[in-house]
Amino acid sequence: MPIEFEAPKPITQMQFMLKTVADEMMRPKSRYFDEHEHEIPWDYIEFMHMAMKAAGGSSLAPHENGKKSEQKEKRPPIGYQMIAAQIEAISYGDLGMYHCLPGGGLGAAAVHAAGTPEQKAKFLARFNGEKPTFAAMCITEAGAGSDNSAIRTRAMLDEQTNEWVINGEKIFVTGGDKSFTEYKKLGKGYIVIWATIDPSAGRAGMRAFVVEGGTPGVKIVKLEHKMGIRVSDTAAISLVDARIPFDHMLGSPTVEKSTRGFKGAMATFDATRPLVAASGVGVARATLEFLKEKLAENGIQIRYGLPRQKLTSIEREVIDMDIMLKSAWLMVLKAVWMADNEKPNALEASMSKVKSGDVTTRITQKVVEILGPLGYSREFLAEKWFRDAKITDIYEGTGQINRLVVARQILGYSGSELR
Ligand SMILES: Cc1cc2nc3c(=O)[nH]c(=O)nc-3n(C[C@H](O)[C@H](O)[C@H](O)COP(=O)(O)OP(=O)(O)OC[C@H]3O[C@@H](n4cnc5c(N)ncnc54)[C@H](O)[C@@H]3O)c2cc1C
Repeated sequence: MPIEFEAPKPITQMQFMLKTVADEMMRPKSRYFDEHEHEIPWDYIEFMHMAMKAAGGSSLAPHENGKKSEQKEKRPPIGYQMIAAQIEAISYGDLGMYHCLPGGGLGAAAVHAAGTPEQKAKFLARFNGEKPTFAAMCITEAGAGSDNSAIRTRAMLDEQTNEWVINGEKIFVTGGDKSFTEYKKLGKGYIVIWATIDPSAGRAGMRAFVVEGGTPGVKIVKLEHKMGIRVSDTAAISLVDARIPFDHMLGSPTVEKSTRGFKGAMATFDATRPLVAASGVGVARATLEFLKEKLAENGIQIRYGLPRQKLTSIEREVIDMDIMLKSAWLMVLKAVWMADNEKPNALEASMSKVKSGDVTTRITQKVVEILGPLGYSREFLAEKWFRDAKITDIYEGTGQINRLVVARQILGYSGSELR
């Protein structure tokens, strides 16, 4: 299947529509929600839910009904490409508000990667309901972030009731509050908790559990105050003797002598890392376009096509940023194209995440610098985009960790051989 460099028509149409959403609905509220951390943007959530339903799906997750797309035989699959383009376009509007988009997010991605067909049918269908519904994924713990195989959250089977009993603490859960707390305006969401069912089995003991919103014994203990993406809730969650139905453990209940559980977590990231990369490209594009507008207002046009030595230093900086941005986007496209065509994409997923993390951080920082004191001022959103953008290089594997993944893939080392 050849890679097409022209975006298919459904994607360009969607980009056109989301540009209006970004300009009319997101940007005017960006500063407000940045300054009113933890306020929930209900109007935006409800509007986006209705808009996505009207467009034929109420969440940015592929194959939500557990079946493959029926369009597959008729034309090349573009499910992930579409999602990446949507996320890029929405993050161009506001990276924080992108995280408030209703849908399954990382939680549904985990179900998709690690669930049985029955579990996918059961846990993915709800995002198409009447009310906006969220899901989140919780791996990170104090002491288990980059090395998430070190998690201590424990799930034990109560054989009398045939329920899992989970105890532990999770931190930095994106959307944890909207997924777990039973807000009247939202449908019933869930959080996916990664826990060990056998600490002596190491990675092979890791399993994911779907914990329904409102489950007794589970508590949102804190919402983080953050540097950027402040409208996105980032929760710390405690679980004390939380009882979960037996069939809410994703995949096989037996501890096999394999790292299947851990691989489920990694497969989730193969799907989502290119999407994080896409979100970074969106905020970097917003920042770069803003700079070009401000330069144009001051009579400075970038003279593309002139030899480099004839350009001013600012023009060279802008062109270098154009190149960085385009190369980051091409790496996203390769990773999602592979996912769409069911090719293993662990290498490309991590590469796209590394590239986007670097590019996004550098572009937003450089734009603040070029804009001078006004770049640092709250009068413009540039300083906010600079703060927001850094997250691209942190969650779903830091830049360093994704570089390790890339090196392992290229050199053929395992996680224990190269760490
Ligand atoms: C806003 C936000 C949202 C998040 N959302 C989620 C979520 O929804 N679900 C979830 O489970 N987690 C989430 N996280 C957690 C995030 O994935 C972790 O913060 C990240 O994986 C890093 O782990 P850590 O914080 O424990 O840092 P550490 O692992 O302690 O790393 C600290 C530093 O050391 C470096 N480092 C660590 N190991 C190595 C190594 N072997 N080689 C080189 N350098 C290394 C890291 O790159 C980093 O720079 C979120 C975090 C933030 C900030």
